[in-house]
Amino acid sequence: MSPRIIQLPLSGRDRRHYVRELRAAEQVHRDLPARVEEAYRAAHALACHEWSVRQFIGGPAEPSPKIAEAIAAGCELLEVRCRRCGHASLVDLTEVVWPREKPVHTLAKVLPCRACRDERKKVQPDLVAWRPRLQPQGDPPAAKRRASRACPG
Ligand SMILES: [Zn+2]
Repeated sequence: MSPRIIQLPLSGRDRRHYVRELRAAEQVHRDLPARVEEAYRAAHALACHEWSVRQFIGGPAEPSPKIAEAIAAGCELLEVRCRRCGHASLVDLTEVVWPREKPVHTLAKVLPCRACRDERKKVQPDLVAWRPRLQPQGDPPAAKRRASRACPG
């Protein structure tokens, strides 16, 4: 037998108070997910910026933000430079076939330079920095094709 719950009757004033509190809590609950999403996006963007600055001053590539986090933060273009020939190119992370939950620095081992592909020893490229997407829909087809390639070529 379940325990019997006796609820005390609320006065009209208490009932109105709790209804008001409940409405306020429901409003806060409706607004919070968007604010949480915005805060995560800002945090991921800050992490991407920190990683770019660390690359600029010659720091280690790892730890790095996850690919999904970088895409969510709007950091979709990654500048990559070949260590051997120095050719630089942009990698569009939204088009890369690689697990999104992996950190960005794991991409270096699967981005061989196409200009150096005849060499026996494969050289991993340097991941340089995030680059802003300047013209989201105004990209000419040639630049878009260049950005989608894995590494220089
Ligand atoms: Zn190269």
